Amino acid sequence: MDSSNYRCPRCNSDNISSSPLVYKRGHIINGAYDHSTDLAREVAPPEKPQEPGAGCIAWFVYISVFLCALPIVVWIIGLLFFDKPLQEVVPAVLNFGQALLGPLFLLLLVRLGHHREVRKYNEKMQVWQEKYDSWTKQYICMRCGNIFIRE
Ligand SMILES: [Zn+2]
Repeated sequence: MDSSNYRCPRCNSDNISSSPLVYKRGHIINGAYDHSTDLAREVAPPEKPQEPGAGCIAWFVYISVFLCALPIVVWIIGLLFFDKPLQEVVPAVLNFGQALLGPLFLLLLVRLGHHREVRKYNEKMQVWQEKYDSWTKQYICMRCGNIFIRE
């Protein structure tokens, strides 16, 4: 193997260290205490994108199902317990259904928004993975501070 691979491309010093190693050496996590040296901060890995709230989806599905089932439940209760004729109960249920359209539409928008959030997160994760892979091949020169990628 060519030994020049192990030298800094800027100052030709062979005093180089891999960034992940330097980061590990200068980064301390002790419970809630999270400390990095200036050098560790400089060679820190790319920040992982934040996950979109996973519980959100289940929550919105439950609410949607509940809102859809509610008019039917009200209709059955009306027939069983209040003994109202269908002609009286049906328009009331229809009005109730119309009143529900607003919130349902809102829920749909929120769910679409969440879907978009998940898609954006996946795109960000892909970019992060590429950056992370190149970070693992990153070196820092301990003489001049040059940061470079060694393939
Ligand atoms: Zn150098």
